[in-house]
Amino acid sequence: MIGRMIDRLLILAMLGPELALWRRAGRRPVVWWRDDDARRTGPALTLLLGMSARYSVPLTVAAIPDGDLAALAGACGVTPGVELAIHGFRHENRAAPGRPSGEVVDGDSLAEVLASLDTALAAFAKAGVRPSLFVPPWNNVHRTLETALAVRGLGLSGYDGMLAPEALPPRVDAHLDIMRWKPTARFRGARRFLDRARRLLAERRRKRAWNEPIGLLTHHLDHDEAAWRFLALILPVLQPQARPLLSAEVASQAA
Ligand SMILES: [Zn+2]
Repeated sequence: MIGRMIDRLLILAMLGPELALWRRAGRRPVVWWRDDDARRTGPALTLLLGMSARYSVPLTVAAIPDGDLAALAGACGVTPGVELAIHGFRHENRAAPGRPSGEVVDGDSLAEVLASLDTALAAFAKAGVRPSLFVPPWNNVHRTLETALAVRGLGLSGYDGMLAPEALPPRVDAHLDIMRWKPTARFRGARRFLDRARRLLAERRRKRAWNEPIGLLTHHLDHDEAAWRFLALILPVLQPQARPLLSAEVASQAA
């Protein structure tokens, strides 16, 4: 109860003045929402989709292809504005010890990565889903993976990059992680989260990059109570919109 009140006041104090500057300019930040690591349905997914529905905010659920995609597609399909993206092949860390975690590594051939990607696409197709976005586990963007995504006409979502709808592959990133990961997963904390949100907003306003999106990142399976509580407070403030479209999608919509 007190935690909720403090978070509410912090949001007002730390984001209010910046958001007022946007309103004065007649602008609204473009925020989109990505959640990672879904494999199957469960209580945490129900909570996540419930929040998307309650606040009428669209959501991109990045799902690992080796789970129960049919059940996931069913659950996501009944919530308006929820799309599925591909979150890796098996979410398996294949990096050498001491290197950043990643699933695609140096030495993987393009043919091997394409084969893994096609297996993933087939798993989604079997569940009746045609995803248009790939989210590499640990946001590890490997050059060979990028080439494979370009060949298959898929978009890419990593962390902290600028929107590049015309790039090959086209790219739209997440920037604002609600969690901290070291030493263990937990809520990032309202101050840290809001500090970064304010900085990202101010950067865009100063550059007059009004439409440069900010990607909110969540991991429903890892949220503690504080993360869920804060998410419920910040969603109505940030009002995430549908994920920005990438070039291939714009082309297919025009066709
Ligand atoms: Zn992941």
